[in-house]
Amino acid sequence: MKDLKEFVRDIPDFPKEGVVYKDISPLLQDPEAMHRAVELFLEKLDGIKIDKVIGIEARGFFFATLLAEKLNAGFIPLRKPGKLPYKTIKEEYALEYGTDSLEIHEDAFERGEKILIHDDVLATGGTALAACKLVERMGGEIAQCDFLVELEFLNGREKLKGYQIESLLKY
Ligand code: 5GP
Repeated sequence: MKDLKEFVRDIPDFPKEGVVYKDISPLLQDPEAMHRAVELFLEKLDGIKIDKVIGIEARGFFFATLLAEKLNAGFIPLRKPGKLPYKTIKEEYALEYGTDSLEIHEDAFERGEKILIHDDVLATGGTALAACKLVERMGGEIAQCDFLVELEFLNGREKLKGYQIESLLKY
């Protein structure tokens, strides 16, 4: 089958001028490519036991759910403020201008559970680091963070030093 990179397209000037956005829609539209990506993620886990898979809103949800099902683990959404219906715990993080935050349900997992964090793209690492901090504040153990795409020139991996980071497609 084609290289998985052929299923990720560059969109210039999205969401704002000067940004080249990696669009994973073609990969999601192709069942064989999705299947291959899931297989590769499972290989990277190499049998590590996972209790819960956390997907980061919104494009992190797709593969986090598929992986959770394969791993016989639960799925947990990490969402932008005000989206989750039950009691939440929040983590703020810095953006280029201002701050953003992520929320999780306070009863999403038990202390000591092994957590896989997943998102579609690792860019500067700010989002994933906020996810890691939130999970650790709640007593979770981060087993691995995995990403479909890693934008290596933005050094996200450096920001996430100390965590096990895996990505399928590096740019
Ligand atoms: P970071 O916090 O690592 O700078 O940015 C990562 C977050 O922004 C992820 O949630 C990811 O979905 C989104 N993101 C940043 N750049 C891109 C991109 O080029 N393509 C896609 N699909 N998402 C991106």
